[in-house]
Amino acid sequence: RDEQYPWANAAGIDLADPLEVVPLLKIVEDTAATRHRAAPIVGGQLLPGEARAVMNPADHSVQVGEVVETGRQTIDTALARASAVQPGWDARGARFRAQCLEQAANLMEEQSESLIGLIAAEAGRTIDDALSEVREAVDFCRYYAQQARAHMGSPEALPGPTGEVNELSLHGRGVWLCISPWNFPLAIFVGQVTAALAAGNSVIAKPAEQTPLIAARAVQLLHAAGIPGDVLHLLPGEGAAVGGALLADQRIAGVAFTGSTETAKLINRQLADRDGPIVPLIAETGGLNVMLVDATALPEQVVDDVITSAFQSAGQRCSALRVLYLQEDIADKVIAMLRGAMAELKIGNPAALSTDIGPVIDLDARQMLERHEQRMRREAKVLASCKLDESHSAGYFVAPQVYEIESLAQLEREVFGPVLHVIRYKVADIPEVLADINASGYGLTLGVHSRIDGFAREVFKATRVGNTYINRNMVGAVVGVNPFGGQGLSGTGPKAGGPHYLLRFVTEKTRTDNV
Ligand code: NAP
Repeated sequence: RDEQYPWANAAGIDLADPLEVVPLLKIVEDTAATRHRAAPIVGGQLLPGEARAVMNPADHSVQVGEVVETGRQTIDTALARASAVQPGWDARGARFRAQCLEQAANLMEEQSESLIGLIAAEAGRTIDDALSEVREAVDFCRYYAQQARAHMGSPEALPGPTGEVNELSLHGRGVWLCISPWNFPLAIFVGQVTAALAAGNSVIAKPAEQTPLIAARAVQLLHAAGIPGDVLHLLPGEGAAVGGALLADQRIAGVAFTGSTETAKLINRQLADRDGPIVPLIAETGGLNVMLVDATALPEQVVDDVITSAFQSAGQRCSALRVLYLQEDIADKVIAMLRGAMAELKIGNPAALSTDIGPVIDLDARQMLERHEQRMRREAKVLASCKLDESHSAGYFVAPQVYEIESLAQLEREVFGPVLHVIRYKVADIPEVLADINASGYGLTLGVHSRIDGFAREVFKATRVGNTYINRNMVGAVVGVNPFGGQGLSGTGPKAGGPHYLLRFVTEKTRTDNV
């Protein structure tokens, strides 16, 4: 922690305390009963237009709200206004920008309960997940505010010959485009946007099609906290249409993207092919994440951490565990215990506190997982599967499943849902296992369960992975504590919530003055 600019992670709500939980559940219920609206927000104004319905993934007969998508003319207006005000926003200085973000954090904290309710209704996330997400969004605001003060408060004096003044200063680059996914509809959205704003950029944010309501709410909170309307615009709509038009425009000076590896590559190509300046792309993408468990590991702890890592958030986390390597001496025991633990999982309404696993985001996601299940039933051995019943037919529910496969190469890409694959290994196979992990090309998260420190250290050293977790679960990176991001097919870095993130959003200038 920087003593000059202290900050602390958000405390959140105590879900074990009835005095906090009862009012939370009441607000969650009220939020679900409210019809929310999103639309392009340009110059601080929610624009009118024809809206499409946004439905609840846990019950697709329930409408959560409606969204007006962005038209061509609006894209141009937002770009013109964002470009015009950016130099002034940069000149306002880091301290003012940091104050706005800290005020946004305070507002988000004050409104935590209704944000949790909206995340649960629109994205199908459980209360527990939604609470962690609100805390993460609050943390991003405070952390990037602190980073802006620390790095951008005043120019850095540099050495030089007598009579010459040299200094280095950091500035916003221009209009930053932030493109975000639906799986952390508040935290990732807010993280990208606040970093870009803190660094002195104006921002155009394109949220995922599935979650425009929470994005609109976040933008309104940021405006209420003092971010000028023309400095931050929201343009909801389809990725290829709205995102594509923005990417092609030379006024975009940088792009922060979080989503699939395939879309990141598409965006990279599009930026390379367009006329105009060369601009940075920060891409945070998917993973084929592995956990290695050796025979010294504690099976109870392993099973607990596997359940959390593979199935929490219905497996819809980029960090989620996809492939569990079990050393043969411990494999049968862990698998038997895993079956038992899965039988206890409660799948259902994400707004109920007792629910462990909510729905997947939409029909496309469920169908992709059903295709994978069919393939696994042909090519792999079914080790465990949870059961769904009639009550789940109203929403996009997918039962957590575990399959035994022969090798990592059997999975060509990320499977984004509650599906775990198990591979048995022998001690002598370790070099090959580590080579296979690196050969996958992904490098996001990695878990190790072992009571041999040297083994965990060896795995850490030998693998090209962004975040390694030893003897714990692999999800829930905390801002400033577990800076998060991968390498290779999993992303470009820098790590979100880490000390180098903000610096990727700036341009550097030096001034040499022969006084
Ligand atoms: P996605 O399909 O790649 O979409 C992400 C965003 O890109 C959405 O806003 C999408 O808009 C937009 N988009 C799609 N095509 C585009 C195009 N041609 N031009 C510009 N923008 C375009 O990913 P997703 O399904 O939303 O999210 C799940 C993925 O995100 C998973 O792969 C997961 O691993 C990854 N993820 C990574 C991290 C990380 O930190 N590494 C964190 C969370 C998620 P539409 O909604 O209109 O398609």
